[in-house]
Amino acid sequence: AAINLGDFLLQTIKAFQSAYKREIQYQPGNSLVTTVVTDEKKLKQLLYILLDNARKYSDEAITVSSGREHGEAFIKVTDKGIGINNDEMPKVFDRFYRVDQARTRKKGGSGLGLSLAKEIADAIGIRIQLESEVGVGTTATLFFKTDKN
Ligand code: ATP
Repeated sequence: AAINLGDFLLQTIKAFQSAYKREIQYQPGNSLVTTVVTDEKKLKQLLYILLDNARKYSDEAITVSSGREHGEAFIKVTDKGIGINNDEMPKVFDRFYRVDQARTRKKGGSGLGLSLAKEIADAIGIRIQLESEVGVGTTATLFFKTDKN
């Protein structure tokens, strides 16, 4: 169904914030006038996985922004956390893969989040891009391959 991206983000961020008591800065860009055609429930699941990782692997405020790049609507989740090194990057979408067990053990988690995120994204026509720098932070971007405005 067609959903308004801004309304969806406001609602999802609010729910996540009150559940986890974590600060999220929202930069709506043009999302308030952006409509995407997608499965809202699955998109919410997907965003929750990214927000949950940002929450687990960083201590500072999380930023969510949205907009349009090369004609594609996007949602970005940015954290200023521990980051992921380049060697691990290709593996984090694998099932049960967790970077440095010792480092992440205290954060719980089973290593399934991102593999599920990838599956959901493929199912609803979204592309996930992950960019990260160790000690600086991570940005996960969801691109809507098909959308209308
Ligand atoms: P869960 O199944 O509960 O999500 P998880 O967080 O370990 O557990 P994934 O979401 O699949 O599993 O992530 C895989 C690994 O990638 C994590 O163990 C973590 O090391 C790394 N990772 C994922 N997101 C981030 C992030 N935002 N910052 C730093 N490392 C991350």
